Amino acid sequence: MKNKEDKTSSNSNSQNIESINKNIRKENQGGKSAAEKAEDKKRKANLPEAFAKLDIKRMGITAAIVLLIFLVVAIILPAAGKAQYVDAYEVYINDTSIGAMSDVSGLETLVDYIYSEYEEHYNMEVSRDVKISYTGIRIEEEYLCPSSYYEEILKSNIDVNVIAWVIYVNNCPAIALERREDAQWVLEQLLSPYKDEEGAENRTDLGFLENVEIKSEAISYDKVVDKETALRIMQYGDDIEIQRHKVVSGESLYNIANSYGIKLADLRKANPWLNEAGKIYKGDVLIVTKINNIVNIKYSEYVERQEEIPYETVVIEDDSLYETQTKVRQEGVTGLRNIKANVVYINGMESSYEILMADEPSRQPVERILVKGTKSVPAVLKLASSGDMPLPVSGYRITSGFGSRDTGIEGASTFHNGIDLAVPYGTPIYASEAGKVTFAGSSGGYGLLVKISHEGGVETRYGHCSTLLVKSGQYVEKGEVIALVGSTGTSSGNHVHFEVRINGTPVDPQR
Ligand SMILES: [Zn+2]
Repeated sequence: MKNKEDKTSSNSNSQNIESINKNIRKENQGGKSAAEKAEDKKRKANLPEAFAKLDIKRMGITAAIVLLIFLVVAIILPAAGKAQYVDAYEVYINDTSIGAMSDVSGLETLVDYIYSEYEEHYNMEVSRDVKISYTGIRIEEEYLCPSSYYEEILKSNIDVNVIAWVIYVNNCPAIALERREDAQWVLEQLLSPYKDEEGAENRTDLGFLENVEIKSEAISYDKVVDKETALRIMQYGDDIEIQRHKVVSGESLYNIANSYGIKLADLRKANPWLNEAGKIYKGDVLIVTKINNIVNIKYSEYVERQEEIPYETVVIEDDSLYETQTKVRQEGVTGLRNIKANVVYINGMESSYEILMADEPSRQPVERILVKGTKSVPAVLKLASSGDMPLPVSGYRITSGFGSRDTGIEGASTFHNGIDLAVPYGTPIYASEAGKVTFAGSSGGYGLLVKISHEGGVETRYGHCSTLLVKSGQYVEKGEVIALVGSTGTSSGNHVHFEVRINGTPVDPQR
């Protein structure tokens, strides 16, 4: 920026000033102030006065001459040899000493001049909030700040803050600009997409969701930005690279937002030109960078539209169903009515609305009726549902699991409704759970088969038996021997085909 050149050109001078300042500070920090030291020297210099009181008349001329020479030596030498003390002022800026000066009469004017120079340079008003004070001291002349450095020493010790125009959002400073008009321009630019688009004439209360103010404030010049930069930062945040996406056919706002990991609302906010329907076309370019939430824009619109009236859900208990079961007896239907409303939009998206007037429903809502079971679930149904039914033989090897399979055997199902447990011929088969035998006989591919019906709609089947030990209609206990293993029906070796069904549908016995 402009002021950079200024700073570099004054560097060499600043160093001189700095060393002068250091000397003065050193002097002051040495315990005695400059004034006290000067007093010490003065006491020593008082010696010649004592000599002056001697009666010259009583002395010879020679003695008088000798005395005169002595006086000259005594007076001149200390002054010429080491230090010359002078009256001066120690000058303070905001209570910090900046050095000793012999003449302070023009300091205020000089400070004013420095401020004016900055104002001209920045083309902005600067804050003139500075306190200059001084105290009289006596100091060795060599430590005086040469008057040719006054301007530089003041410049290097005055903090210059410009009077900038700061946009505040909810009482936090967001950005500083040179002029009030610039700050206003930024705010107007933020609002303009919502002001100028089609249909905007129906909008009211267009403004910021946040409390946005412009205040003048003294601030370092390097914090002030131009209006375009300010607008970009207000919209997209600081130091971010803005990413763009070119729409290809088949894309929607929703999946574009998803693919960049941003919210749909953020995508809309970054592209305020999108209309409410959010229609995009192949070739459109969208900004897909999640934009800064410094400000959000809100407005209200009066609308007349049809609104759905939600339906209610009624739950009816039914003890013929298990507590885990629900059934919909009647689907709900939303009602319809016309409303007049005040809709509040934030960043172009509807956020809430207030109904001003509602007509009688043109369609009444129909309630949804849900039937919920109350019957507790039998233990056997829980076992069957979770794939934990006890297996009917021990010491088995599973030769075929539940589900799709390639048997290689003609006539065997490609979907295996149970599991095959290979055990030697004649091994006892136990009832998995207690129940009623509903079938005991020969049944096609199953060969000799036993079916047991349990509580809760659960059934177990045991196939390919060599001998059946139960009859249809008989109740069996869990673990009771019901048959012996064989290889009847569609079978390639001795095994039991064990099947579990819930309400007729086979489930995996070992999930
Ligand atoms: Zn099988």
